[in-house]
Amino acid sequence: MGEIVCIANQKGGVGKTTTSVNLSYALACLGKEVLLVDFDPQSNAGSGLGIILKDGEKSIYHLITKNAAFKDVIKQTSHELLDVLPASKDLSGADVELVNIPGREKVLKETLSTIKKMYDFIIIDCPPSLSLLTINALVAADNVISPIQCEYYAMEGLAHFINTTGKVKQFLSPQLKVDGGVLTMYDARMNLSNQVKDEISKFYGDKVYKTPIPRNIRLAEAPSFGQSIFEYDPSCRGARAYLDLAIEFLERRGAKPGEYREFQHSVDSKADFDFGG
Ligand code: ATP
Ligand code: MG
Repeated sequence: MGEIVCIANQKGGVGKTTTSVNLSYALACLGKEVLLVDFDPQSNAGSGLGIILKDGEKSIYHLITKNAAFKDVIKQTSHELLDVLPASKDLSGADVELVNIPGREKVLKETLSTIKKMYDFIIIDCPPSLSLLTINALVAADNVISPIQCEYYAMEGLAHFINTTGKVKQFLSPQLKVDGGVLTMYDARMNLSNQVKDEISKFYGDKVYKTPIPRNIRLAEAPSFGQSIFEYDPSCRGARAYLDLAIEFLERRGAKPGEYREFQHSVDSKADFDFGG
């Protein structure tokens, strides 16, 4: 049975989509069957993998409103183990359309329940809000990962987010677990990054992923080419960080330490010099 992991933080621009895309791609590179669900009307997760819908093509919106079948919505990516359910602008209307439907918080969970067994992991990229869309993603998920940008206001937003997640767990979805926080746009040379890291570690304890994602220009460039970082520049620091993150993610789920070392080395050996960042 696949595990559903939601990548969420109501704050905008903290690295949710970058993490969703590159964690999904890295897991596929490590041999896992992955479905990436773009659940943000901005559609950045799909377009970041080169998937741009033409007029009339169906999206996750049509799935949750029961106006399409999976086979009409699922897209293959350049990696054979990674599929995508793309979003479209219609999704922004779903927030309003779902309000009067009984069980409105469970629509995504029900939609994904039929295909959960086809994948090892289903990763959901959330919009920057605590809207009904995000609530649906949290209710559908077994685990939530929250990317945290290393900046001054990170803690405030995080406290608010943890509070919401707690309420979703209490009232709607007892199985939901907080897998942890991932530090993004980390710059070890900056005091602020280190302060945020210390604060977050106090708050989250060992739930903070040990792998911080560095600020790396290649990660910001890759989406404009419709490519994950592993296609765009597999030897850059950002690619190595997301690969390490994916390995840490699998180790938390029982993979043996060192199981993927060979793969890590093959990436490291390509890293003759440091691009950007
Ligand atoms: P939104 O809330 O709008 O959905 P988001 O949380 O999904 O945003 P991203 O889109 O992943 O955040 O990232 C915001 C911007 O920062 C993007 O331009 C992205 O390319 C850039 N970015 C993300 N992570 C990094 C990084 N580690 N280094 C450099 N740039 C990054
Ligand atoms: Mg996003």
